[in-house]
Amino acid sequence: MKTKRVRFAPSPTGWLHVGGARTALFNWLYAKKKEGKLILRIEDTDLERSSEEYTASIKEDLKWLGIKWDEYYKQSDRLEIYERYARKLVHEGKAYHCYCREDELEERRKKAIEEGRPPIYDGRCRNLTEEEKKNYRDQGREPTIRFKLPEQQPHAVVPDEIKGEIEFESLTTGDFVILKSDGTPSYNFACVLDDHLMEISFVLRAEDHLTNTAKQMFLYDALGFEKPRFGHLSMLLGPDKTKLSKRSGVTSVGEFRKDGYLPEAMVNHLALLGWSSKDEQEVFSREELIESFSLDNIVDSPQVFDRDKLDWFNGQYIKEVELERFVELASPFLEKSGFVDEASLKEIGAEGLRRALDLVRPSISKLSELVDNEDMAIFFDGVGLTGEAEEVLAWEDSEEVLRAIMEKFSETEVLQPEDVSKAVRDTKEEVDTGYKEVYKPLRAAVTGRLSGPEIKEVISILGPEKTVARINSVL
Ligand code: GLU
Ligand code: ZN
Repeated sequence: MKTKRVRFAPSPTGWLHVGGARTALFNWLYAKKKEGKLILRIEDTDLERSSEEYTASIKEDLKWLGIKWDEYYKQSDRLEIYERYARKLVHEGKAYHCYCREDELEERRKKAIEEGRPPIYDGRCRNLTEEEKKNYRDQGREPTIRFKLPEQQPHAVVPDEIKGEIEFESLTTGDFVILKSDGTPSYNFACVLDDHLMEISFVLRAEDHLTNTAKQMFLYDALGFEKPRFGHLSMLLGPDKTKLSKRSGVTSVGEFRKDGYLPEAMVNHLALLGWSSKDEQEVFSREELIESFSLDNIVDSPQVFDRDKLDWFNGQYIKEVELERFVELASPFLEKSGFVDEASLKEIGAEGLRRALDLVRPSISKLSELVDNEDMAIFFDGVGLTGEAEEVLAWEDSEEVLRAIMEKFSETEVLQPEDVSKAVRDTKEEVDTGYKEVYKPLRAAVTGRLSGPEIKEVISILGPEKTVARINSVL
């Protein structure tokens, strides 16, 4: 069986958006499932709007998502190819030079709209005589090359494997440009040539390209190329049910990364957008996603990108990733926080930091929450007392409790969580008071607050010396 080949073909005119990431992901999953190849093709023929910076960031974001490509092409390296094929079509009478200037075209478009006609190219350069052409050239006009659509009403059928066959009764597009006057190809032309030359077997892209696909059908026929299979993914919408945009608060993949989302969560969420799974399972490993990927499962209706759901996924992954990796992911965010500096990190030590992060991670849903995380701050110095904590410290037994327990802590070098529990029990007996009367002042003195992670864990991580110092300073 022939190797299946799919591609992701972003235009580097902006950052990678979540919609693009989902298209890339579905192509990648398909390639993995079919043991095929994923081609990354940068469609940068719009020289003015494309930039190297965007190309680099798209590649970086794809890598971050774990979407690896097998082959890489840039259309700007391939301009000669497009030009050659455009000339071939002209030679075969399937395309022609159009000498109309942009301002003239614009004028005619306006007029057509005013007169209630579709604003499409009127084909006036289709049958120019040699003399007319020469005249135009002498005027210094740089021609574009236009594709000759069939004379009769062009009627296209797109055999879509997700939506089923889609018919386009009449394309509201006249003879369209395939090569611009600066020698760069139009999107549709370069896309068809590359999909053919790169032996793409299946084109899976977003449904906003459907009319492009319809136009591309004519190009395949004119070029004598066999058509690949097609599938169009329904659109991703923002929470307000409109197209994703900055305004809908859903932006580029890079921003999610900076905000402390894990690629696993992003991948999981994106994969499940537009995918119906038979059971209730929601958290899928990459392997499971590949395993269960199938065109039949892709749902053909617009999907809403749901940030809360993403947060939920992210929280799940934060709880589950290996601690080593979590520490690595967390570090840049901690460094941005006000409570951590080189000295305080040294003081808590690598092991202490690991344990502290492990203790805090169940309560966060994205890494950026670490930056001003109060539960994390308690492991570092400079904890002030809340009003509630002060009240608890003023309780009748508090001072006695704290002195008693501090004494027990001073006697040891290490404090396991069980040791803390034992010290609490013993103190309770000694002072003859309740558990609450021991725990609360202890927590207040050590952390300055009444809520937070388990106090025996906190104290165990801080160690006796620091714990005693904190209690002392409160007393
Ligand atoms: N460059 C096009 C885009 O970014 C690619 C569409 C396609 O996959 O053919 O929308
Ligand atoms: Zn013209």
